Amino acid sequence: MEKIGLLLFRNNLRLNDNLVLAKALQECDKLIYLYIFPEIYFSNLRCGHPKVGKYRMKFLFETVEDLKQNLKRNENDLIIKKGNTLKIVSQLIEKYNVSDVYLNNEICSEEVQDEADLLTIPNIKIHKVWDSTLFELNRLPFSISDLPDIFTQFRQRVEKYSLPIEPIGIPKEISQKAFNCNEISDVNRFEDLGFTDFEINPNSVLEFKGGETEALKRLEYYTFESQKLSFYKQTRNGLLGEGYSSKLSAWLANGSISARTIYNKVKQYEKEVIENESTYWLIFELIWRDYFKFVALKYCTGIFKIEGIKKLSKRYSNDMAKFQSWVNGRTNEDFVNANMIELNLTGWMSNRGRQNVASYLVHDLMIDWRLGAEYFESLLLDYDPTSNWCNWQYVAGVGNDPRENRKFNIKRQQDMYDSNQKFTNKWLKINTTQTLF
Ligand code: FAD
Repeated sequence: MEKIGLLLFRNNLRLNDNLVLAKALQECDKLIYLYIFPEIYFSNLRCGHPKVGKYRMKFLFETVEDLKQNLKRNENDLIIKKGNTLKIVSQLIEKYNVSDVYLNNEICSEEVQDEADLLTIPNIKIHKVWDSTLFELNRLPFSISDLPDIFTQFRQRVEKYSLPIEPIGIPKEISQKAFNCNEISDVNRFEDLGFTDFEINPNSVLEFKGGETEALKRLEYYTFESQKLSFYKQTRNGLLGEGYSSKLSAWLANGSISARTIYNKVKQYEKEVIENESTYWLIFELIWRDYFKFVALKYCTGIFKIEGIKKLSKRYSNDMAKFQSWVNGRTNEDFVNANMIELNLTGWMSNRGRQNVASYLVHDLMIDWRLGAEYFESLLLDYDPTSNWCNWQYVAGVGNDPRENRKFNIKRQQDMYDSNQKFTNKWLKINTTQTLF
C-alpha cells in the first residue's frame, strides 16, 4: 500500500533548505501539501487591534501564493485553507487516506496547541522537525534548561561548540511524489481573507513582497549585487532607505528563507568578496534571533507574562489615552511619533526606532509593555513571536538584559541617529490628520 503523507506548512514557507520537506519526501510515496490560515489569525488582540493586520496578512498571502507557484513548477500543488487546523487536517486525512502528517516544530503556545490537537487524531503519525534556527536544537552545547540567561554567554558557547548545518536545496524527489487530489482551496485572492487590497506606501523603506522567490532575490541583492553587506556594521542603526540593514526579517519570520541559507551566503561572500566586522555582525544578529527562540523554549509562556522571565513586578499606568497617543504618533516626542507613523503607514520600523518607541512607552509613559508588544504583533510585517516578545521584555527590563531599567534618552537618540531630522521630518510631514486606530 502506498504511504500518503500530508505536509502542513506553517512558518517554514519555502522549498529550499526545508528539513520537514526533505524528511517527508524521504519517507512517503506521495505527498499532499497544505497551508492553513488559522482561525486565530482573524481574531482581535486584547489591545483591540487585529491579531494579524493588513501588512502582515498581505505579505503572508503573497508568500503562500509564491509557494504554490513554486510547487506547481515542481509538478505539485498547494491546498490553501482557512479555519480550524484540527478540523481541516482531519477531513483531508480521511478523504485521502493519509497515514502520516509532517510539520515544523514551532515554539509558542498557539502553535504548540495546534500540535497537541493534531496528536488527538487516531491512527495517525505526527512527525515534527526542528527547523527554524541557525543552530540545531540537538547540537547545542547545553540542554535548554541550562540555556544561559545572558546573550553573550550563549553566543560564545555556540560559536565555540556548534556549527550550522549546510543548507539543502529542493529535494529532487519532489516532482516524483506528487499526489494530485484536485482539492479546492478556500483562499485564492487576498480578499478571500476578508481584507481589501491596498498599495504599498511609496514612502516605505522597501517594496516588501512576500515569498521565497523575493527572499532569495533580496539576499542576493544585499550581498553580492550591492555589496551593502560590507558596510552593515556602520549602517545598521540607520533609519532611512532600504540599504542600512538587510530587511530579511519579514521573510525569516514566516520561514520563506532559512537562517542557514543566509549564513551560507555570508560565508560565501566572505570567501569571494570580503570578510570584515560587518559580515560577522550580520551573523551576530542571526544569533540573537536564535537566542530568543531558545529563550522562548526555556520559559514557554513566561515570555508573554507581565513580570517577564525575571519575574519582576513593576507598576504600570492604565492611562489608555497615553497608549493611544503612542499608537497614533502623537506623543511629546517627535522622534517617537515619526517612527510610529512609519509603522502605521508601512508595517515597518527600524531596529533603532523599535528600541526607542518601546523604551518611551514603558519608561516614559509607564504603560504595560505587553500592550506595545501586541500592537507590534498586529502591525509589523516581520512579526515573529519570539523576537518580538523577548525584545519587548528586554527593553522593559523584565527579560534578558542583565542591566535593570535601561531607559533611552529619546532626545539624545534623535541627536545621534537623526541629527539633521531628515527621518523625523519625512514622517511628520506626511499627512497624519486621520486617527489611524
Ligand atoms: P538586520 O539588522 O539586517 O539583521 C539581520 C537579521 O538578524 C534580522 O532579519 C533578524 O532576523 C535578526 N535580528 C536583528 N536584530 C535582532 C534582534 N534584536 N532580535 C532578534 N533578531 C534580530 N525582529 C523580528 O524579526 N520580528 C519582530 O517581531 C521583532 N520585534 C521587535 C520588537 C522590539 C521592541 C525590538 C527592539 C526589536 C524587535 N525585532 C524584531 C528585532 C529587530 O528590530 C528586527 O529583527 C530588525 O530590525 C529587522 O530588520 P533587518 O532584517 O533589516 O535586520
